[in-house]
Formats: sequence, C-alpha cells, structure tokens
Amino acid sequence: ITESDLIQGTVIASQANFYQVRLDSNESLLCTRPTRLKKIGQSVFVGDRVLVKSTEFERGAIASVLPRETELERPPIANAQQILLVFALEEPTLDPVQLSRFLVKAESTKLKLLLGLNKVDLICPEKQKAWQERLCAWGYEPYFFSVQTSQGVPSLQKVLANKITILAGPSGVGKSSLTSLLIPEIEVRVGEVSGKLQKGRHTTRHVELFELPSGGYIADSPGFNQPHFDFSVESLVNYFPEARARLAENTCKFHNCIHKDEPDCAVKGDWERYPYYLKFLEEAIAFQEATAHKK
Ligand code: GDP
Ligand code: ZN
Repeated sequence: ITESDLIQGTVIASQANFYQVRLDSNESLLCTRPTRLKKIGQSVFVGDRVLVKSTEFERGAIASVLPRETELERPPIANAQQILLVFALEEPTLDPVQLSRFLVKAESTKLKLLLGLNKVDLICPEKQKAWQERLCAWGYEPYFFSVQTSQGVPSLQKVLANKITILAGPSGVGKSSLTSLLIPEIEVRVGEVSGKLQKGRHTTRHVELFELPSGGYIADSPGFNQPHFDFSVESLVNYFPEARARLAENTCKFHNCIHKDEPDCAVKGDWERYPYYLKFLEEAIAFQEATAHKK
C-alpha cells in the first residue's frame, strides 16, 4: 500500500473488530482492523484518527492509528477535549453531593470540564443566582440552559463546536433531549449505525460519537453515569478546585497529609465542600482496599 491510497478519518463507533469510520471526505466506511495492528497491541478507540484503505462496498481496513491527543480507558475514547457534565436544576432537584461526585469523577480525567445546568425554565431568577454564586465558590462557572425553551443553548453550541465532547450526568436531567436538540437527525444516525453494529448498542463499554451540524462530536457515555472513585486516595484533593487553591497558597505540615485529622493542614477549613471531601475520602479508601483485596 502506498500512502496515497490511504484516507484519513475518525472512528465514530466500534463493536468487536468492526469500526465505523467517518472519512474527512464525509463518507462513512465500515472497517476492519488487520491482524498486523492487533499483533503490535495497537488498540483502536472511538475518537481515534485513522488512516484507512478503502476496499469495496463501503468497506475498508484500518491501516494505522495516528497519535492520540488525549485518551480515556473507561470509557475507551480517544482525542476527546472536554466533558460536558449535565445536571438539572429541578426535576430532579439538584443534589450538591451527587453533583460533586460527578464533578470529582470528571476532574479525575484531566479533560476540560464544562458544567451545564438544564431546566432553567423551572426555577426563578433568584434561585439561579444563588446556584451561580454557590458554584462560583466551588470554582465552577456553569452554563444555565433549558432544552425546553432553548434558552442558553446557543452558548453551549459555541463551546461544543469542532470538539469531541463527552456528555455525562445522571439520568433524567435532559441529556437525550439536549442531544436531539443539537442533532435533529439523530434518530436516523443511530439507526444507521446500529443496523450494522447492532449488538453493542446497550453494553456499558460501548461508546459512540454523534456528529454535530456545526462540526465536532458528542460522545454519549454510559460509562460515566455511575461514577466510581477508581483513583488514588492522595489524588482526591486535586479534584476539588477550592482545595487546589488552598494548596497553592499554603502547604500541609506532613507531605503525606490526607487532610483529615493531621495538624497544620492547608486543606482543612470551613469551605462548603470540605465535608464532601471527607465523605469521598472514605469512599476512595474503601475502593482502594476493595481493589487491593482482589489483587
Ligand atoms: P436523560 O435521562 O438525561 O437523557 O434525560 P431526558 O432527555 O430523557 O429528559 C428527562 C425528562 O426531562 C424528559 O421528560 C424531558 O422532557 C424533560 N426535560 C428535558 N429538558 C427539559 C427542560 O429544559 N425543561 C423541562 N421543564 N423539562 C425538560
Ligand atoms: Zn493537609
């Protein structure tokens, strides 16, 4: 194969050894991964930029995977720039602990984090302002929006354009509604891919990219919807912006401080989410112990 026979594209869905590739020329190819790539241990993730060799009948073979800019293992996705965490302000009522759980999980990926608060149509301006101030104190600047009235949606469209964004959040907050507002033809697209890649659609490790009309993709990720604290206990503190700010100003007396009972701790203090930190710390310790026993 010469270089000129190869075309570039993005992997938008995968199942077993089949990959749906959206070519830069806009066509779609169902591709296989040659054994040669398997032998060298080269994985192919959704989001990967690939060089493919077109065969026939809309089929192709992946010749190589270009270097990744970012990479997540769970869920497996390459080259995502950001996570859009969606919560509702009401129905269901915004729960600060649950929100923090998702924020911490999203922070642990090191991807850029966007927070979208949907159903702004259901709350009064005073309540909105109160949430804005509260979240600002946590270190976040949320996008308030409503899928129902479209208020705030253009600002979201702007930050999503030409990026690969992972959509995360609990159920019932309006993720599907937002996706179908942003991509009106999504039913067609879902059907199109699922016809060929039928089995994978409902498994938790399955990730699929949906193309935005303005360019860019949204990855709907079931893997993110029940966050587990599968990171080290010591790193937890870095996933709270308020704690990061405190550690930038002061250092703890002990270098291995877990910011709980130690004297002269820079993190301990009367910031709103410190009790959440302690709660999550117990969970992260329990997770670490549970996985240590399994090994
Ligand atoms: P998902 O589980 O996160 O995908 O949530 P859905 O998109 O299925 O939405 C859950 C419910 O919230 C549905 O009944 C939607 O009609 C409703 N919903 C979505 N967006 C809005 C909104 O902006 N305002 C109001 N009032 N309801 C909304
Ligand atoms: Zn400390």
